[in-house]
Amino acid sequence: MQTRRDFIKTAAMALPAMSFASILLSSCSKSEIIAPRKKLRVGIIGAGISGLETAKILFDQKQFEIEILEASDRIGGRISLSESVLGSNNIEMGANAAYGDQNKWYNMLRTAQTFETNSKTPSSFYLSGSALTLNELNKDSDYLKLVNSTQDIGAYSGSTDVSVAQYIESKNIPERVKFIFENRTEEKIGTSIERASIALNSSESLSKIDANMYHIAGTNSQDILYKEYGKVLPFVLNNTAISSVDYTGNKVKVRDQNQVLREYDFVVLTVPVSILKLQPSEVNSIQFSPALPESKIAAMNKIGMDGAIKIAIKTNRKFWHEDSKSIYTKGKIGKYEVVSEDPANSEYILTATVMGAFAENELNSMRESEILNLIQNEWAMYIGTSASDSLVSCHVKNWSKDPFIRGAFSYHKVGGEAETRKELAKSISSKIFFAGEACNTNKNSGTVQGAIETASAVCKEIIAVAV
Ligand SMILES: Cc1cc2nc3c(=O)[nH]c(=O)nc-3n(C[C@H](O)[C@H](O)[C@H](O)COP(=O)(O)OP(=O)(O)OC[C@H]3O[C@@H](n4cnc5c(N)ncnc54)[C@H](O)[C@@H]3O)c2cc1C
Repeated sequence: MQTRRDFIKTAAMALPAMSFASILLSSCSKSEIIAPRKKLRVGIIGAGISGLETAKILFDQKQFEIEILEASDRIGGRISLSESVLGSNNIEMGANAAYGDQNKWYNMLRTAQTFETNSKTPSSFYLSGSALTLNELNKDSDYLKLVNSTQDIGAYSGSTDVSVAQYIESKNIPERVKFIFENRTEEKIGTSIERASIALNSSESLSKIDANMYHIAGTNSQDILYKEYGKVLPFVLNNTAISSVDYTGNKVKVRDQNQVLREYDFVVLTVPVSILKLQPSEVNSIQFSPALPESKIAAMNKIGMDGAIKIAIKTNRKFWHEDSKSIYTKGKIGKYEVVSEDPANSEYILTATVMGAFAENELNSMRESEILNLIQNEWAMYIGTSASDSLVSCHVKNWSKDPFIRGAFSYHKVGGEAETRKELAKSISSKIFFAGEACNTNKNSGTVQGAIETASAVCKEIIAVAV
């Protein structure tokens, strides 16, 4: 008969050094004979990167039986590839880059290939009728004022909380260069500068404005995810939207949209905060029994997650400067990334991501052809006809309309509290656990790496409880 010690020892051999199993080994007395324990069942709700990472860590521990319940028909959540649009290109319509090179997401991308950008990467800036390179812009006195006035934005120490827009207003940045700040900032906070708190987003998203970003190149996100998480993919149940979680008894009862009931020892919720915030009467909401604690609901309400639209654009000509990786204009869609260049076939792909008020109030109701027209008009106005005439087509991914995502990523609203994310991440009754980018308490919310970190945190908790 296998003793518990043997059982743990076998499991431990398959585990990395310093795992919890080695701690367990030392806690067993030599004479103790215990039958191997039944595996503990863990239901992971959501197959975005935090759900997949949670599954992988727990699977490697061997003592858990995992199931990943995913509402949509694919994996990856906000990491999403559009295949065969705008010709034969594979275009990333969600996350496609890592912030910095000291994290797991970067390591996953690096095994593929990456290209690097940051706020000092060559770009084309179209302002007041002229097309400037970054070197030229760096000699512009208005731009220098912008750089000098905002360089401490990642370490804001003001005593009162205001919006990022109010903060920038107080800096008296010249109007003609303000849009550069707005575009760089909004893609980091995930919303309009009028909506986000300067105090609380400062050390999180805003500190990343100058970070090096490593973009996926030479492969695509789905291949990267399949390679990293291949062994847990057999445990993903797609098209399984969870509608209720009942944790009144010993086991957690989870029901899906087809009324199929599953029971688990532990449940990990990795759904976006926008889904957790849905009212019971709203489509795709999750009903909790008992209801989530008031403190958690209050924390969720201090966190925003606003509209996001990513647009891929094909042009037949290169109108930007030779090495430019980004294009900035004063248009409502103000920043474009150069994704690929194929001069032999006169095919160039750019992407633009719009988040916050403009995405929600205007782009949200526009058809693809109307968005193409808007870009054409803006390019004609701010860049010139060489640009507007080069437009061929566009492809739009509206994240606000994705029924199980409903937006961009989380940010602190003005008037929030520093402890908010801790409260969001708090487990309930040692049975219900929370992961996903919004639960990141390590200043990496709103990122892929941040989502991965929450998976490690939640697994540590589960393993500690399981012992
Ligand atoms: C356009 C865009 C660009 C971005 N670019 C970057 C970038 O370059 N770099 C970066 O680091 N970050 C980027 N981000 C942010 C990054 O994508 C996210 O922080 C990260 O992917 C979130 O992972 P997650 O696991 O927390 O959540 P998600 O990826 O949202 O996964 C949650 C999963 O839960 C599922 N789900 C929802 N409801 C239910 C239900 N009821 N039942 C079952 N399943 C459910 C969803 O379908 C989804 O698959 C970007 C985000 C967007 C929108």
